[in-house]
Amino acid sequence: MVQSAVLGFPRIGPNRELKKATEGYWNGKITVDELFKVGKDLRSQNWKLQKEAGVDIIPSNDFSFYDQVLDLSLLFNVIPDRYTKYDLSPIDTLFAMGRGLQRKATETEKAVDVTALEMVKWFDSNYHYVRPTFSKTTQFKLNGQKPVDEYLEAKELGIQTRPVLLGPVSYLFLGKADKDSLDLEPLSLLEQLLPIYAEVLSKLAAAGATEVQIDEPVLVLDLPATAQAAIKKAYTYFGKQSNLPKITLATYFGTVVPNLDVIKGLPVSALHVDFVRAPQQFDDVVAAIGDKQTLSVGIVDGRNIWKNDFKKSSAFVNKAIEKLGADRVVVATSSSLLHTPVDLTNETKLDAEIKGFFSFATQKLDEVVVITKNVSGQNVAAALEANAKSVESRGKSKLIHDSSVKARVASIDQKMSTRASPFEQRLPEQKKIFNLPLFPTTTIGSFPQTKDIRINRNKFNKGTITAEEYEKFINSEIETVIRFQEEIGLDVLVHGEPERNDMVQYFGEQINGYAFTVNGWVQSYGSRYVRPPIIVGDLSRPKAMSVKESVYAQSITSKPVKGMLTGPITCLRWSFPRDDVDQRTQAMQLALALRDEVNDLEAAGIKVIQVDEPALREGLPLREGAERSAYYSWAAEAFRVATSGVANKTQIHSHFCYSDLDPNHIKALDADVVSIEFSKKDDANYIAEFKNYPNHIGLGLFDIHSPRVPSKDEFITKISAILKTYPAEKFWVNPDCGLKTRGWEETRLSLTHMVEAAQYFREQY
Ligand code: GLN
Ligand code: ZN
Repeated sequence: MVQSAVLGFPRIGPNRELKKATEGYWNGKITVDELFKVGKDLRSQNWKLQKEAGVDIIPSNDFSFYDQVLDLSLLFNVIPDRYTKYDLSPIDTLFAMGRGLQRKATETEKAVDVTALEMVKWFDSNYHYVRPTFSKTTQFKLNGQKPVDEYLEAKELGIQTRPVLLGPVSYLFLGKADKDSLDLEPLSLLEQLLPIYAEVLSKLAAAGATEVQIDEPVLVLDLPATAQAAIKKAYTYFGKQSNLPKITLATYFGTVVPNLDVIKGLPVSALHVDFVRAPQQFDDVVAAIGDKQTLSVGIVDGRNIWKNDFKKSSAFVNKAIEKLGADRVVVATSSSLLHTPVDLTNETKLDAEIKGFFSFATQKLDEVVVITKNVSGQNVAAALEANAKSVESRGKSKLIHDSSVKARVASIDQKMSTRASPFEQRLPEQKKIFNLPLFPTTTIGSFPQTKDIRINRNKFNKGTITAEEYEKFINSEIETVIRFQEEIGLDVLVHGEPERNDMVQYFGEQINGYAFTVNGWVQSYGSRYVRPPIIVGDLSRPKAMSVKESVYAQSITSKPVKGMLTGPITCLRWSFPRDDVDQRTQAMQLALALRDEVNDLEAAGIKVIQVDEPALREGLPLREGAERSAYYSWAAEAFRVATSGVANKTQIHSHFCYSDLDPNHIKALDADVVSIEFSKKDDANYIAEFKNYPNHIGLGLFDIHSPRVPSKDEFITKISAILKTYPAEKFWVNPDCGLKTRGWEETRLSLTHMVEAAQYFREQY
């Protein structure tokens, strides 16, 4: 019989319960027991929801208070020494590794001062995991038994679950060596790690788990031979252990075909493959499946919000059934549903027609179940009919097509995507205007989004204050930020972005063709969730989106203020994209809308314009090949279309974060100045890669994800280290990213120290 399976469910709760609880705990408003209770309730709600939907295979251990990869680091004792010396409880150790901790001594507790571990994008998604960080002194052992505890918790509720664990090879491969052990190759630790995995698995079996899902998403990457060998070794090892649960080896976000030789013949009971992302791998995968193995067909999209097409999906699953038989096929979500919002029924403000196009995590449970029933010959005629109608109506919807937008995209040419002169000619023109000192200082854009800002925005949205009152409030916030920057001596100022709820949503709301949710939150990292706008149709900008605030900010200071925009690739990547046109087309539509905005800013007297592209790297196709080369070219082109309509003397900045960047990719954007996240890189080789970057660059000097305040000396040490490799003439001084998640107190101190450090270097040069 065909079974239905879910690979993971969002843990944030339908109303962001997890965020409220974790932040409440960090702020001392709730106790650790209250925090744990919220976690327990969320888990139980999720399991029950899935049970009631009729899902056969329900995941456990997909819950986390911060990040599931970080949970494993805690579980396996992969805890750098700097976190263990304070005698923190396990949960506080977890949070310290995830977000850093700085705490003054009290009567009962020692002072703590430790930075967070590096946080990295989870494959090509906007989720971030905390990077496992190994040292030569790392001693694997089990700290607690979270997967077992959560399995038992579900079992007590009468729900049999399939625990999920990230697999040993992915866990090591996605990690890195700590700065005290830079020559350590994480994969070399496999042999020591495997017995610990086996211990967890056998404990799960002893607790009653018959099956586990082990995720090896690295199998969709171009794996080096060492990692391929590690996969063979790991699963052969598990195959030799007695008393382990059956293993479903899960992959997602791409094709496994280049690694099929590695997967073939592994002693696992099932293979899960993402056929939403890569349907073309079907024949190869089916041919590689062993006689007794099951194929888990990932057919309900875990990464996007479009309603499933039941007819198409059922036909796809039926192909698998024909080849393998019903008993060896599972109908599943393509990946964990972590990347989709929790429940569409909470969306009260969406246009009914548009709402009919979507399906969120809760609805996807029904989708998996209906497809399973359908391919099992059960009668789901009504659901199929309603689905067919809805799919058809979207295809024909008037809300989607705009011929003038299509025509403008078709007219994009080389000239539109090239600045009037090359950088060497632009630079002297810009120097004349700005006359900046060496080591110019700036920030990335946002300043603390205070409670006051959120309250006023809510009031404005609810209509309890007028547009004029709101504008007055925003202007006073801008003024505070401008005065503060002048006071501490920053060189290129920002207006602080108080009017923006989110860097993509804010623009999306002003662009035709977008739809928005009121509660469609998705976890980005830790307690930070985003509410991605949804690209529904062709995109265009009816009027200026950001000019008013930038012009106001510039009007009250003699220093240059940066106009601040979100780039086309980031708008695309941090939205749910359309699945009926290609990504390039959507990027170019956005690029044109932003081009108009850039030109309007320039015309309004703004001389420096920053177009942020933090998501540039995450959009890179996971494998080498034609798709990746094409992306390199169209992503850069989209940025240049947006930014090439200005005069030489207008200085274009860009900003990137959250990822290991390829300097060549950034070069292709031809921005005059770029700022990149850097503070947690700790790696001289990485600086060296940027040495030949022709334009100017600011390597982020402090971690904005942490409330920790670096001292002036710490900045000086950091800058000195970079100056060993990086030329002073090109050196900008700035934080890693925007400060919106920070409080004012730490912002004030950190930036003051940063500016003092820049001044120190000016005296040296
Ligand atoms: N300008 C944005 C800010 O400062 C950039 C944010 C980002 O890169 N994620 O908030
Ligand atoms: Zn950033």
